[in-house]
Amino acid sequence: MRPIQMVDTKAQYLQIKQAVDAAIQDVLDNANYINGKPVQELAAGLSNYLGVKHTIPCANGTDALQIAMMALGLEPGDEVITPSFTYIATTEVVALLRLKPVFVEVDAKTFCMDPESLRKAITPRTKAIVPVHLYGQAANMEAIMQIAAEHKLFVIEDNAQAIGCDYTFSDGTVKKAGSIGHIGCTSFYPSKNLGAYGDGGAMFTNDDALAAKLKMIANHGQQKRYYHEMVGCNSRLDSIQAAILNVKLARLDAYNAARQSVAAYYNHAFEGNAKIITPYVAPYTKHVYHQYTLVLNDVDRDGLSAWLAEKKVPSMIYYPVPGHKQAMFQSFGLPEYQLDTTDWLTQRVISLPVHTEMEEEQLAYITQQVLTYVNR
Ligand SMILES: *Cc1c(COP(=O)(O)O)cnc(C)c1O
Repeated sequence: MRPIQMVDTKAQYLQIKQAVDAAIQDVLDNANYINGKPVQELAAGLSNYLGVKHTIPCANGTDALQIAMMALGLEPGDEVITPSFTYIATTEVVALLRLKPVFVEVDAKTFCMDPESLRKAITPRTKAIVPVHLYGQAANMEAIMQIAAEHKLFVIEDNAQAIGCDYTFSDGTVKKAGSIGHIGCTSFYPSKNLGAYGDGGAMFTNDDALAAKLKMIANHGQQKRYYHEMVGCNSRLDSIQAAILNVKLARLDAYNAARQSVAAYYNHAFEGNAKIITPYVAPYTKHVYHQYTLVLNDVDRDGLSAWLAEKKVPSMIYYPVPGHKQAMFQSFGLPEYQLDTTDWLTQRVISLPVHTEMEEEQLAYITQQVLTYVNR
């Protein structure tokens, strides 16, 4: 059996080596390292895939979120609402821009922003909402967009974990996660569902004016070279990463399907076990399993992860400390948050290996080890 990894990017690369090597060689032969043809191809390919008008590539997913927030023309102290149960990048950029992070609760079953908690957190200073499509399923976007429209708020989707995920509205319309809010952001970090072999990110929008602004901010605030209209930053996706991503974008649906069959295997193996809550998928969304995350019921989590480590099965806790408890925000004068579901989840979740090259033998071994510990 091949050693088990949380994500096996090497095994995946070996399957597409010829195409990837040729794409990289092509960039080297053409010496168009920055904003070359592969970058433009990727932008067009992603716009087509997600059904959006504009894709603006950038250096990483954190930059995408930051640039998106910079484009909204917010003032210091304006409030941006995010879930507390997310990767730190979602909220870090709010604080970095001297905006005020406001944390809300997630739904206990989907792990995504709870619309009722969002509604209660809105004040006259609220300007934007950042739902996170955590672990690979979309947040309740219909409810969130409705609340945003009522209060005239911007919605930035953090789609770093759910690229390729389909969302179905109550009228039957299907849209891709990341194409629903005013701006969608994603990351091409190597372990993401669409991962490069280095850093990368992108922003999506259907709004022409916002697209122009995002592009300008990512490029030192200039539209015309050396004429800087506003303070921006330098955030580029390089041609080599784009060339790799073009090869992988063509296989994204197949990759997500492979992740879904891993999840189906796990679900089946753990079915009916009272100590293991398998991922719930809400009726309005698909799930592309960036992570396969269990909620443990009356199981010693540290004990389980030590047991698995001993058996050479990696596991991870995403995320052990929620945003509202991070030391980095202590100087921001945040209120005393009471986010019981978030606290409850951070103490009970555990993620198992999921990637596109998992073998049945590995899955059988992992599930057997988990069940042996949990049932003893
Ligand atoms: C990975 C990730 C990011 C940040 O992406 P980087 O490319 O690492 O900067 C932001 N939000 C979420 C939810 C992520 O998983």
